[in-house]
Amino acid sequence: MNGYALFVLIGTVGVFSLERVAEFLNLRSVPPSPPDPLAGAYQPGEYARLRPYLTARTHLAWIRETAGLGALLGFWFLGGFAWLVRLAQESPGGTVGEGLVFFAVLFLLRALFGLPFSLYSTFVIEERFGFNRTTARVFVTDLLKGLALAGVLGAPLLAGFLVLFSQGGDRAWLWAWAVLAVFLVLLQLAVPRWIMPLFNRFTPLGEGPLREAIMEYTRSVGFAVRDVFIMDASKRSTKGNAFFTGIGRQRRIALFDTLVERQTPEQILGVVAHEVGHYKGRHVSLGLALTLLHIGLMLAAFSGFRTQEALYEAFLVDAPKLYAGLVFFALLIGPVEFLLGLGLQALSRRHEYQADRFAALTTGAPAALGTALLRLSADNLAHPDPHPLYVALNYSHPPLLERLRALGLGRTETSGGPQQPLSSSGGSGLAGTPISGSRSSTGPDDPAR
Ligand SMILES: [Zn+2]
Repeated sequence: MNGYALFVLIGTVGVFSLERVAEFLNLRSVPPSPPDPLAGAYQPGEYARLRPYLTARTHLAWIRETAGLGALLGFWFLGGFAWLVRLAQESPGGTVGEGLVFFAVLFLLRALFGLPFSLYSTFVIEERFGFNRTTARVFVTDLLKGLALAGVLGAPLLAGFLVLFSQGGDRAWLWAWAVLAVFLVLLQLAVPRWIMPLFNRFTPLGEGPLREAIMEYTRSVGFAVRDVFIMDASKRSTKGNAFFTGIGRQRRIALFDTLVERQTPEQILGVVAHEVGHYKGRHVSLGLALTLLHIGLMLAAFSGFRTQEALYEAFLVDAPKLYAGLVFFALLIGPVEFLLGLGLQALSRRHEYQADRFAALTTGAPAALGTALLRLSADNLAHPDPHPLYVALNYSHPPLLERLRALGLGRTETSGGPQQPLSSSGGSGLAGTPISGSRSSTGPDDPAR
């Protein structure tokens, strides 16, 4: 085992262990009764369901992640990558054809691996706790659309990338960077307009006092918007949410229909104001700029590592293959990416505070936003007091109690214990991210997490 292999092995197992420890601590830190400001937010008996819900989800995560790590190590050390390179080499089309086959097989294997866990999560856990509204039909069409989209967007991008790197010489990474930058900006424009509507129906909010209040508010803060959209999130889950996405003229605020059903107009206005705060703070553009910088650095590094024969030997592949190098580099850089991700997530949490502050100042009603967040947390059976390590690793949004405190609504006296947060869920894939579920700062925003 060479140095690369050792680094990947230690890094991957290290990140895996840290994440499981954080989950364990988080599960243990569920308070026996709802903390102060949340006490009245639950229906009778509702809070008793929270711990079993989190336990079921955490146990599923443990099984999924452990099986995933085992599958990766098994595939690696039993010569899976070498087998896959041989398989790819039988396909026509040179490096590009081979690369497409290589990635298609890996992608499908991954999708296949994730499927039972996704089924169990949706139709057993979410169902048992009354959140699920996904029908088998919606589940299957979501899956097929996701696969098709990955093929339609991913295949040309990968082909272009392989052509550039196999023919572009030393500066290939700069060309690849330029191409990816254009692609990402176009994607920002395409997501709200063409991609999200593939998965959900977006209906402009109908005439009425809520629409009037929102329009008056957006005018007063100089955020020109023709419509606020209601998204039919209820076709998948009862959980409420909202997000801001897109750049330029394609920017869009969307409210889950499940949020609108259960919150008062004042509270909904608070949520809208929070989303406008993201726009005013240029959070989406800043996130996009950071993503581009990040990609540039990764491409430059890949450019250096891709010719290192030892990297291929580490994965039991005897000669450098550009497409395989891409996957090996991703595995090599994984632990570094994990650390970078922590920084980006911390930045995202700061943006959430800024958006909350903007909403409080411009609406003059911090309590309305606070109540909206509190309701969402209780309705979604979110962890009321997540462990700080779990927050650092998983939360793109600050825990609820800290947000309430920042809004001037928290407990005025601290209870003497460590300042622990109270918040909504740490990583439901259903919340706010119908496309990717990623925590990237350029993705849809989600006020509740
Ligand atoms: Zn937000």
